Amino acid sequence: MDFSLPESAQAVQRGIAGICSRYGMDYWERCETEKRWPEEVWAELAKGGWLGLAVPEEYGGAGQGLLELAVATETLSASGSAGGSAFTYVLTPGFGAMTLARHGTAAQKAELLPKLATGEIETCFALTEPDAGSNSLAISTFARQDGGEFVVNGQKIWITGVQRATWMLLVTRTIPAAEARPRANGMTVFLVNVPEAVAAGQLSYRPISKMGANTTPSNMVFIDELRVPAENVVGELHGGAVVLWDILNPERILLGASALGGAEVALRVGVNYAKEREVFGRPIGSNQAIAFPLAQVKAKIELARLMLYKAAWAFDNRLPCGTEANIAKLTASQAAWEAADAAFQTHGGMAYSLEYPVARLLTDARIGKIAPVTEELLLNYLATQVLGLPRSF
Ligand SMILES: Cc1cc2nc3c(=O)[nH]c(=O)nc-3n(C[C@H](O)[C@H](O)[C@H](O)COP(=O)(O)OP(=O)(O)OC[C@H]3O[C@@H](n4cnc5c(N)ncnc54)[C@H](O)[C@@H]3O)c2cc1C
Repeated sequence: MDFSLPESAQAVQRGIAGICSRYGMDYWERCETEKRWPEEVWAELAKGGWLGLAVPEEYGGAGQGLLELAVATETLSASGSAGGSAFTYVLTPGFGAMTLARHGTAAQKAELLPKLATGEIETCFALTEPDAGSNSLAISTFARQDGGEFVVNGQKIWITGVQRATWMLLVTRTIPAAEARPRANGMTVFLVNVPEAVAAGQLSYRPISKMGANTTPSNMVFIDELRVPAENVVGELHGGAVVLWDILNPERILLGASALGGAEVALRVGVNYAKEREVFGRPIGSNQAIAFPLAQVKAKIELARLMLYKAAWAFDNRLPCGTEANIAKLTASQAAWEAADAAFQTHGGMAYSLEYPVARLLTDARIGKIAPVTEELLLNYLATQVLGLPRSF
């Protein structure tokens, strides 16, 4: 066994860390409070070719994989962006580029991958609906065929990054959930040109006011008689579940990487404060009540990272990776939450002051236990799919 990171991933670590060194915690704090996209970092990532990591070389990318994307996400997140970085790598390099590289038609790849590699165009992913979140197979957004086009009607919720996206990966039903056998049959994924659909009055959106992760708005999306050409189907008609799993597993791995980076930065902030702050004439870190939670978090970060890299490696090698992706997401999110909580407790009253970053780190860490999949659903997967326990639902 060889646990060393491949040189390609180490180069990513160095490259992203180099960019991040020019943007500190204050930068990410400002992006969050001003609710703005990290334009400067995005431009540097684009200029350096870091957005095309997982785009095949023939389409202008670096021809690497999910492992390199995960390392990029972790490094960005650990630099201080925490949750704010997640969208940078998940929305376009993850949802858009990885999905099309694996499932796009020759025409879709030729047209979109070169532009995705440079960041010229961006993507978002629309699955969740007001009545179908954890139970994603229950979506009701429906696409009916009309000659060479499909006509889509429905509603989505929480769709992040619609404002910047040129293309939306829209998950629909082409066979209603009640009629599909098995239930995963009859899903179809479409590429929707967002500006054109908005201009035609067939798609509209409204941002949701959020407690965190405000570098990128999340939206209600309303779809009304949206016309999509048949050539915009990604993967097979009715066979979208295959594409969906190749979106959801990388999404879990990349958001796990973001959580892991969040855990690393929270630990760093907590440890620094524990060394500097003196109470009763000695650094608070000399109290085991302060030191042990931080030490425990260190152990959990190292464990989660092992599983995260294993999950990414399995995906890149086209091996089953569901169990690894789910464990990685579960443990990285837990590490992030525990790290942020330990850093918060370590800061005493100053944790509550927005002059310090710990409140933002705690808010960012909380989302990992909910999105893109809840902790309970991850445990359900492990209980039923891995341990073979009976389903309760
Ligand atoms: C900031 C943010 C960004 C997001 N971005 C996107 C995006 O870009 N695109 C997109 O498609 N979606 C996005 N989502 C949606 C996200 O994927 C869902 O919120 C998530 O899957 C949970 O679904 P839900 O909110 O409907 O919760 P629900 O499914 O309503 O669940 C509510 C609670 O019940 C629990 N529960 C339900 N069933 C069971 C069970 N059988 N056993 C135990 N517990 C159960 C859940 O674990 C949860 O705690 C985003 C969400 C957020 C908050």
